[in-house]
Parts: sequence; structure tokens; C-alpha cells
Amino acid sequence: MQAEPQAFDRVLSSMCTEPHPAAREAAERFLATNPGDPATYPTVADLEEEAVSRLGDLVGLDDPTGYVASGGTEANIQAVRIARDRTGRESANVVMPESGHFSFQKAADVLGIELRIVPVDDELRADLEAVRECVDENTALVVGVAGTTEYGRVDPIPELGEIAREVDALLHVDAAWGGFVLPFTDHEWRFDHAPVDTMTVDPHKMGQAAVPAGGLLVREESLLDTLAIDTPYLESTSQATLTGTRSGAGVASAVAALRELWPDGYRTQYVRSQRNAEWLADAFAQRGYDVVDPELPLVAVSIPERLFYDLREEGWRISRTGSGELRIVCMPHVTRAMLESFVADVDRLAKP
Ligand code: PLP
Repeated sequence: MQAEPQAFDRVLSSMCTEPHPAAREAAERFLATNPGDPATYPTVADLEEEAVSRLGDLVGLDDPTGYVASGGTEANIQAVRIARDRTGRESANVVMPESGHFSFQKAADVLGIELRIVPVDDELRADLEAVRECVDENTALVVGVAGTTEYGRVDPIPELGEIAREVDALLHVDAAWGGFVLPFTDHEWRFDHAPVDTMTVDPHKMGQAAVPAGGLLVREESLLDTLAIDTPYLESTSQATLTGTRSGAGVASAVAALRELWPDGYRTQYVRSQRNAEWLADAFAQRGYDVVDPELPLVAVSIPERLFYDLREEGWRISRTGSGELRIVCMPHVTRAMLESFVADVDRLAKP
């Protein structure tokens, strides 16, 4: 018996979405290719170059280097690894706001580096004073998030870059989720806005590519070279990626989505998603719930715990922030009709 693939009609918490039809088709065609061995699989290797170049346009980086990773976690781990190897110090540390993704905890654990977590300010953005106090001569990397996982906030990236430069550390921007919506906002988050050294930007989230398609972008090739390992049994001689065999499907689908959607399709999607988020935030506010203003298409709202679990019982795939707010991510598959039906369930279930 064949299992049904995932239906998205009640999924409100995921940062992934249904791939664009062109991305789905490209993923299927390239299923049996391995960009981890570029000399043997040259077509997909060329596509990966195109993916990196197109991602470079998105993030304001001329002449970009990087690769299509398995996701944001791998890209973040690799960014920490680049910074650690660059300092060569035994007791290197990474400074990150508490809004940073848990993948940095994995990175710190795997790479044996100290992770220093600093608070956020009232706007839920990295507290610059706290970051300034926390960095020292052993700081290898300062992390800023452009589109936080829980509240969709954007850290003050240019200021974080200045602090990183003062202690000769690198600046990494985690735009895993935000990277495909931020180009249509006024936020300063790109390589050409600030001294950004490395960035995570994932096609398999707002980019509408098939999973797995994450993105690591690096300002200078020499930084990526610090990761290169000799690969004697492959046709190609070195590899900078964390995984060995990789998904050609992810690479091909990222290129297909970018060719199809950048920039107009992504802009249209951003506008639609942002309007949905604002509509939902208003709907909750009108009903007297406490809502965090949706700066990007992500709504966080305090609801009673019982209501949260009752909504789950109704089949809604929802999640909560660390502080217990309901969190709704307005991904491309989240339509106004879905949100209306969700709010109707909130009204029905919230009745005493
Ligand atoms: N960074 C941010 C800001 C995220 O929101 C996420 C996941 O949601 C990640 C990194 C990790 O990405 P992945 O799950 O693709 O490894």
C-alpha cells in the first residue's frame, strides 16, 4: 500500500512548503545525481554554480562562493567551522542572540566551541550592548539572524558587523527562512549592506524548492577553502561540503525555483504572505489576544494552553515559541481561506 504524501491544508507551523511545480519536476529529473562528485556528475555541478550565482543576486554578493547544503543546519554548522578554523584558537567562542536557531547548539557541540548566548531587546532583536560586552579576543564568530524562527525579527546586522570587526571576528547572517522575503523589505541584512562574511539562505523554505536545498554563501573563496578536504577516491580532488553524497534533486529544484520566481514571483508571494500575516494578527487582536507585530510573515500570539491543544485535536499542525505563544508561519501554501477556517475554529473552541 502506498502512503499518502503530506497534505498541507492544515499545516501552519512549518518553515517548509509545497515546492513550485517547476522545482518539483526538476527534483524528479535529478534524483539520481550527486553534486558531491562534480567531475562524475558535471551537469548538476554546473547547476550548483548557477544556484550559487543566483543566490548571490538575492543576497547582494558579487562573485559569490558557496554551495547548496542539506539545509540551514548544515550551513550554520559550516559557518561556525569556517570561523573556528580561521582563528586557529583553542578556546574560540561564538556569540549569538537567544533568538538564534538551535542548530548553533549542534554546531558548538560538534565543533567543540563555546556558544555564548546574549539576550534580545524589547523588539526581540539582538541586544547590541549585550553583544558588545560578550565578545572578546577569542570570539571567532558573531551571529545575526535575519528572520528569526520564532518571531520573524531581523537583528541589526550592520552594527553586529562593526562589533565583529572590532574583535577581528567573522559575521554570519542566518537568513535561512528570511532570505527569500527580505529582498522586498527595507531591512539591512545583505552582504552589500554590512561586513557580512557568511550567510545561510535556504531555497527549501520560502524559496519554494524541494527539500533538501539549503544555501551557504561565503564572501571570499579563501574562507570556503578552509573547509576543503582531499578526496582521493573521487574524480574531483577536494570537497568543502559537510556531507559527502548530496542531493542533486535539491540543487536542480533550487535552480528551477529561482529561474521561475526571482524576483517577481517571490515578490508577489511575499506580499500575499505578509498580508495574510497582518490579517491574522488583526483577527487575533480584535478578539483580545496579545499579538506580536508580524514584521515578516510570521505571527506569534498568546492563547490559552487548552485552546492550543484543542486546535491540534482539530488537525491543525501548529507549534509554540519557547515562551508559549502560538506561532503561525505564513508560508506560500497558507491561504487566506485556510486562515479564515482556522480563526473560525479558534472562535468555536474558545467559547467557554
Ligand atoms: N536557521 C533558521 C533561522 C531557521 O528558522 C531554521 C529552521 O527553521 C534553520 C536555521 C535550520 O534549517 P533546517 O531545518 O533546514 O536545517
